Amino acid sequence: MDERVKQDLIKIVGEENYTERLIDMVSYSYDASEHSHRPSCGIWVEKAEQVSEVLKLANREKIPVIPRGAGTGLSGMAVPVKGGIVLDLNRMNKILSISIEDRLAVVQPGVVYASLENALASYGFFFPPDPASGKVSTLGGNVATNAGGVKGAKYGTTRDYVLGLQVILPDGRVMRTGSKTMKSVSGYDLTRLFVGSEGTLGVVTEITLKINPKPTATSTALATFDSLEDAGRAVSQIMHSGIVPSVMEILGRETLLAINQNTDLNLPEVDAMLLAETDGYTKEETEYQMGKILEVFRRNHAKEVKEAKTADEVNDLWKARKSAYAVLARIKTHFVLEDVTVPMAKVADLLKGVDAIAKKYDLLIASFGHAGDGNLHPQILYDGYDPDQVKRMEAASGELFKLAIDLGGTLTGEHGIGLSKAPYMTLEHDPVAMDVMRTLKKMFDPNNILNPGKMALEG
Ligand SMILES: Cc1cc2nc3c(=O)[nH]c(=O)nc-3n(C[C@H](O)[C@H](O)[C@H](O)COP(=O)(O)OP(=O)(O)OC[C@H]3O[C@@H](n4cnc5c(N)ncnc54)[C@H](O)[C@@H]3O)c2cc1C
Repeated sequence: MDERVKQDLIKIVGEENYTERLIDMVSYSYDASEHSHRPSCGIWVEKAEQVSEVLKLANREKIPVIPRGAGTGLSGMAVPVKGGIVLDLNRMNKILSISIEDRLAVVQPGVVYASLENALASYGFFFPPDPASGKVSTLGGNVATNAGGVKGAKYGTTRDYVLGLQVILPDGRVMRTGSKTMKSVSGYDLTRLFVGSEGTLGVVTEITLKINPKPTATSTALATFDSLEDAGRAVSQIMHSGIVPSVMEILGRETLLAINQNTDLNLPEVDAMLLAETDGYTKEETEYQMGKILEVFRRNHAKEVKEAKTADEVNDLWKARKSAYAVLARIKTHFVLEDVTVPMAKVADLLKGVDAIAKKYDLLIASFGHAGDGNLHPQILYDGYDPDQVKRMEAASGELFKLAIDLGGTLTGEHGIGLSKAPYMTLEHDPVAMDVMRTLKKMFDPNNILNPGKMALEG
């Protein structure tokens, strides 16, 4: 970092909050994707005013600034691909208020998802998006990526809970969006524009969230199917039956085989396993809903149906789903975890298409995910030290994205575009939409300092 700029940054954040140490530069160079690039320096900020001063300076000097939460992104979103300043928001980690009467929480961006969950639990409330990375990922990161999770089909994603934001724009101006009310049609929806914008338009420094009373009862069941069509039809029939399960997860054959080869879970080796959960405020309510789901499973030729009666049995039914990511991650030296999403009734077609792509490129691709909202996680396993396998993995990824779009779906239901999916943006978005996105980026950030190189915004 240029000495003059370094001294200016130190004036804003203090010497102890500025780093160029190798260990920090390496840590900031990657996230949970396969991408990496080192920044010139990192800074820890504690106040919105500091963020504003840093952005004013960076904008004047035309230096990239990369907002960073926990760095758990799976698409290279927080990777400083053009160098510059990593703006570490982890120390802005206060829950500013919880108002049960208004069903609101106001938080700083560095609050870890699980910390808010713990704080809300004492009031019998929860914040539903529930990303699997919630024990470490930050709410600022969740907002910037519109994170979701296993409960998406019933509860939606982060976007559905963000009522308002404080955002620092690339020129340092401080802006408030939204309101503290459950509805508002006042002006353009700037809040929604920032949710999912991957740190490319502004830095989020305060978040107002809608929170929900936590259901007190759940029912859980699992069903296996010898045919993907039967499983796919069962999901579709459940999702338009009027019963909305809080969880509707699917595990494909390759995932079940891989879990069996690497654990002692001894799962049935079928084409598909579905895990369903219903939630509510009385056992009668959840059992009634589960009864309807079991009827649909049986009507669609489920081979085996298991209903959990005790807490231990619930844990047993969840074991396969919970172990999928970690088991698959250990099989080869490298993997990419995709998150293509298709209309609900197309889940079986997507799974079949994934199997065909795996065969074509002679790769192991194991799928699991959120059948209830059509969001699958095909995990492509490969040896990253073998150039031929890397090439085949890249071709398979490209074909997978095309398949999702051909089925009427989207490139990403959870993990964002970042670097990984930037080359495929034009598969999904027409030239006019791309032009509007690029024009918006230029309007907010004419010097392209905020998280440059992401989302194909410079094409
Ligand atoms: C094991 C594992 C499981 C996962 N499970 C899920 C899942 O179930 N659902 C899901 O949606 N994702 C999941 N992810 C992906 C990831 O955890 C989410 O994208 C998460 O929201 C990222 O949060 P973070 O704090 O790590 O953000 P980072 O990775 O640090 O940053 C992500 C993006 O947000 C931007 N950003 C961060 N903070 C701010 C801010 N305050 N203002 C503006 N921009 C900001 C960054 O610049 C970057 O573009 C998973 C990842 C892993 C490794």
